[in-house]
Amino acid sequence: MEKNIEEIINVSDYLYKNKLVAGKAGNVSARFKGEDDDVIAITPTLKSLYELNEEDIVLVDLEGNLLTKGKPSSEVDLHLEIYKKRSDVNGIVHTHSPYATGFAFSSKRIKRHEGFGAINTPFLEDIEYEAPGSMKLAKSASKAIGDEDVLILKQHGVLCVGDSLKEATLLATFVEETAKTQFITYMLNSTEDLI
Ligand SMILES: [Zn+2]
Repeated sequence: MEKNIEEIINVSDYLYKNKLVAGKAGNVSARFKGEDDDVIAITPTLKSLYELNEEDIVLVDLEGNLLTKGKPSSEVDLHLEIYKKRSDVNGIVHTHSPYATGFAFSSKRIKRHEGFGAINTPFLEDIEYEAPGSMKLAKSASKAIGDEDVLILKQHGVLCVGDSLKEATLLATFVEETAKTQFITYMLNSTEDLI
């Protein structure tokens, strides 16, 4: 368990330092096997992901019952509903990374680039806006995720899942990089040569 908590702290720091999350935004969780049932370790509410301590990480069961002290992320239901739906998911990263979130606030969708695995559909899946932290958002995301490993939350941010927390984290960086490349492409295509 300690190893899982250490990984959450390291991933949180990585996301902050790489500017995928800022201020107190974003949240990270991992699932591991408890004695009887699955245990979810998740980052706390109202705290920056930068330099978290072991005691900041909150443990809950799949029903959201607290197993330790502290208050879990306001998006705990979003994480739990996905874990309940997808037994293959063991790590979840939610960011408001700027380029991908810029797309989420626009009418443009993020194209799948090589690196997302098999490209069966041209764009990343997205879901319509629901209030952050709401059960409506949790239900909508868990319904829409299907076999996807990325969901764009319109007018909000990005949700990445993986069979490990590392996979989900790598995906979050890749989604942001993809969105950045597309943003640059749109900009270059929309301007005239000055020289
Ligand atoms: Zn959010």
